Amino acid sequence: RAKASGRDRWAVFDEDMREQAGQILDLEADLRRAINGEGFVAFYQPIVRLADRQVIGHEALLRWRHERRGLLLPSEFIGVGEHSGLIEEVDWIMYRQVAEQLAKGGPGYISMNVSPRHFRASDFADRLLRLVEDSGADPQRLRIEITEVALLDDVPRALRTLQQLRGHGIMAQLDDFGTGYSALSYLHRFPIECLKIDQSFVAGLTGDSRPESVAVVRAIQALAGTLGIHTIGEGVETEEQRTALRELGCAHGQGYLFGRPAEAMAAVAGTAGVAH
Ligand code: C2E
Ligand code: MG
Ligand code: MG
Ligand code: MG
Repeated sequence: RAKASGRDRWAVFDEDMREQAGQILDLEADLRRAINGEGFVAFYQPIVRLADRQVIGHEALLRWRHERRGLLLPSEFIGVGEHSGLIEEVDWIMYRQVAEQLAKGGPGYISMNVSPRHFRASDFADRLLRLVEDSGADPQRLRIEITEVALLDDVPRALRTLQQLRGHGIMAQLDDFGTGYSALSYLHRFPIECLKIDQSFVAGLTGDSRPESVAVVRAIQALAGTLGIHTIGEGVETEEQRTALRELGCAHGQGYLFGRPAEAMAAVAGTAGVAH
């Protein structure tokens, strides 16, 4: 009996798997087609000074306008893209859009997400610098966001890449900070502009796990202080979180409280998230 039900379970599992695999293949085929079209768009979310909501920059966030499924978030396709290697192409589409946007002007900087795999490519810095130069964008207004994984895989290479970019004015931010390896002993060697405090800790500042989140944010602030760099709190949704971050010494933030990712950037040099 146990055996039979076991087999039933397997049968169900099998079908689910097949369906899932089919969906992934569909998405992969769509992705290939979209890369040659205009399906990918950069949305922009404001990054503000927490004290007065002054916009200091924007993060470019990838969206896929899928012909049948509508607007897709990265979580709905990045896994597929990474698995098939297609994400690198998509990333270049984004970089091009960001460079074009920068060349048009606009307030502050734009930061863009670089996948670890991409960051590791030996020609990454050269290609990016060429693209920025060709577009006429000011490299000082461009930032890249990378995660710790991208740094630790090959430390000497990561260092070279970051130094080369920094030498041309492009700074790097550490994304989702606190969730990764936190290789504290290495961090001071890298030219990093700021730490982006992962949104799970920001959410935690006003939730049940408050003491733990406060402790983590405090530790990140102390680390940033030692490194002489600043921090950005991610996923700020409430006034309470904004206040808590400020009290802990975090000067900058990003989140729905100030503005959702949108196709247009926030008003030039304006303030974000204030009801009019
Ligand atoms: P991330 O870089 O940490 O980006 C922040 C994510 O938090 C974004 O999700 C953003 O929409 C979301 N967010 C912002 N404010 C709030 C808030 O107040 N509350 C909540 N709950 N969420 C907020 P999104 O756009 O879905 O992107 C998810 C992840 O996908 C990004 O995380 C990044 O790792 C990756 N990603 C986005 N664009 C690109 C891209 O162009 N290339 C690559 N390689 N990865 C990208
Ligand atoms: Mg990011
Ligand atoms: Mg982030
Ligand atoms: Mg994140």
